[in-house]
Amino acid sequence: PLVLGIETSCDETGVGIVRGSTLLVDAVASSVDEHARFGGVVPEVASRAHLEAMVPTVERACRDAGVRLADLDAIAVTSGPGLAGALVVGVAAAKALAVGLGKPLYGVNHLASHVAVDVVEHGPLPEPTMALLVSGGHSSLLVVPDVTADVRPLGSTIDDAAGEAFDKVARLLGLPFPGGPHVDRAAREGDKVAIDFPRGLTSGKDLQRHEFDFSFSGLKTAVSRWVRAREEAGEPVPVPDVAASFQEAVVDVLTRKAVRACADQGVDDLLIGGGVAANSRLRALAQERCDAAGIRLRVPRPGLCTDNGAMVAALGALMVERGREPSGLDLPADSSMPVQLVQA
Ligand code: ATP
Ligand code: MG
Ligand code: FE
Repeated sequence: PLVLGIETSCDETGVGIVRGSTLLVDAVASSVDEHARFGGVVPEVASRAHLEAMVPTVERACRDAGVRLADLDAIAVTSGPGLAGALVVGVAAAKALAVGLGKPLYGVNHLASHVAVDVVEHGPLPEPTMALLVSGGHSSLLVVPDVTADVRPLGSTIDDAAGEAFDKVARLLGLPFPGGPHVDRAAREGDKVAIDFPRGLTSGKDLQRHEFDFSFSGLKTAVSRWVRAREEAGEPVPVPDVAASFQEAVVDVLTRKAVRACADQGVDDLLIGGGVAANSRLRALAQERCDAAGIRLRVPRPGLCTDNGAMVAALGALMVERGREPSGLDLPADSSMPVQLVQA
């Protein structure tokens, strides 16, 4: 099926078009530059930017894919979770297209889309797949028997998300927003064993009670204390070493727990998705540890890890292929849509 997907859960206006599991186009307009000076995404600014970018981005996607709107078989859209005012813009646009074209509408979960997108790169998902979803707002381990209908949370962060930790530590180090890519880059020049930062929920009672959960707020505090102590002593802060050591603490825990989850659940395939999956050290360490454990690893290319419309189109196409019922035109924008709810 030829499916157009719209993503507006945060600051990217994404419009992707797929034919089955073939990606035809992935058009993204980002308002990230407008948020940078505030050090975080400003919801009102994001909504307004989506409204301005929506029609041009749909037009650009169709033009670049050589597709006419009338040829589409379905429209898919991110129904949640995300910023309410931002989601509303995408949902309203998708409803307008669906009604105007007389095509079925699928409101899908942004988090399931981060997992589903990999079909356009690496083919059908093994069922079940273990998914490590690591993004700006979420960090979870999910058992995924069927990404169109059955996503089961095994564990998740009990405080900050991994991407949030990257962004906060970047800020501490004076790196621009969003910080993840800047920490990644700075870390390449640094020593990852220079500073021994804490690995949350990996030992003793914490591990027993939270075997597949994550915690990054203690790590962020440890980095902050370490940096402040340096500054108070009047010594320079070795940004690359701090970045590399912090990043190692995050990806060590993520990969250790993901591999353990695969063994625990008897699942041989691990997929990593979400913006943090673009991290070069996470990709490398995950590959190393999966190879050692006999687990097949799949990670979409970095451009498909961060928010985009292709991921929504990809999940929409799977929904059509599996014969799932379309969503109603009363489809909500659900800012706190739970991860288990694949379709709204
Ligand atoms: P969610 O998917 O939970 O709703 P989101 O959509 O805002 O959150 P994504 O676009 O999926 O988030 O991911 C953005 C996050 O990924 C940011 O926190 C960003 O810093 C982080 N990120 C992007 N690239 C990298 C990288 N190379 N290394 C580490 N983090 C990264
Ligand atoms: Mg973004
Ligand atoms: Fe996302």
